[in-house]
Amino acid sequence: MKVVFWGTRGSIATVGAQTQVYGGNTPCVSIEKDQTLLILDAGSGIRRLADQGYYKDFGDIHILLTHLHMDHIQGLGFFNMFFDPQAEIHLWGPPSTSATLKMRLHRYLSPPLFPVRIRDFNCTLHIHEVTQETFYIEPFYVATNFILHPGPTLGFRVSDGDKVVAYLPDHEPALGARHFPQSPDWTSGFALAQNADMLIHDAQYSDEEYTERQGWGHSSINHALAFAELARVKRLELFHHDPSHSDEDLERLYSQHVNGQWDFKVFLAKEDATLEI
Ligand SMILES: [Zn+2]
Ligand SMILES: [Zn+2]
Repeated sequence: MKVVFWGTRGSIATVGAQTQVYGGNTPCVSIEKDQTLLILDAGSGIRRLADQGYYKDFGDIHILLTHLHMDHIQGLGFFNMFFDPQAEIHLWGPPSTSATLKMRLHRYLSPPLFPVRIRDFNCTLHIHEVTQETFYIEPFYVATNFILHPGPTLGFRVSDGDKVVAYLPDHEPALGARHFPQSPDWTSGFALAQNADMLIHDAQYSDEEYTERQGWGHSSINHALAFAELARVKRLELFHHDPSHSDEDLERLYSQHVNGQWDFKVFLAKEDATLEI
């Protein structure tokens, strides 16, 4: 499987000299194998994927949304293939208890927030509502489950039958836990991440920042590390970088927290990184 990071920043696009190394675009990660391309989340990073025509060597396009916070969908309207009559696009994501996925998407993809409506897209569009399930997009098995984050939010476990990538970009498994990590049975997202070859996980805050932002739906770097250790992953990509953290801040936090003391490899997710697993 090949994994590409098109956007690694959380909350809001943060482009500038201070974020050139790890990137300023909001979440978008592609996973590919053979003729299939999965696009996980449609933050501002998806526009870069589209601009490069990265989808061209693949068949149908599959965009999988973890949830509908703006930083994960704001690139949708700028994904040029929606306007290509030849394109066949599958959009996967969670409904809420009161609205279908299409209704929820329409709140953004309609005036006054956006000039074009979903019904004006020229492509053939298939919208799939996803809750807790496993589905097959050849050659990938995708397992999904709800994880701790405000509003209906999914985590994804993508497997080609050999390797596993777990994607939990917005996740606060420590919320409500007296001690973290707790046992696996009581830990949000555990089954999705268990024994993954690569875990892409929320690591937005320092410990200090987390104490002031409990319940906002995100993890500290230490929480991400503890979760990865509990799940016995082989590699952790610290993801959803806080908009206030410059490249220098991220490297300082990394050296403070990671320090080579873990049984798995740990990286700061970097925009444009291309990884083979
Ligand atoms: Zn987010
Ligand atoms: Zn979110």
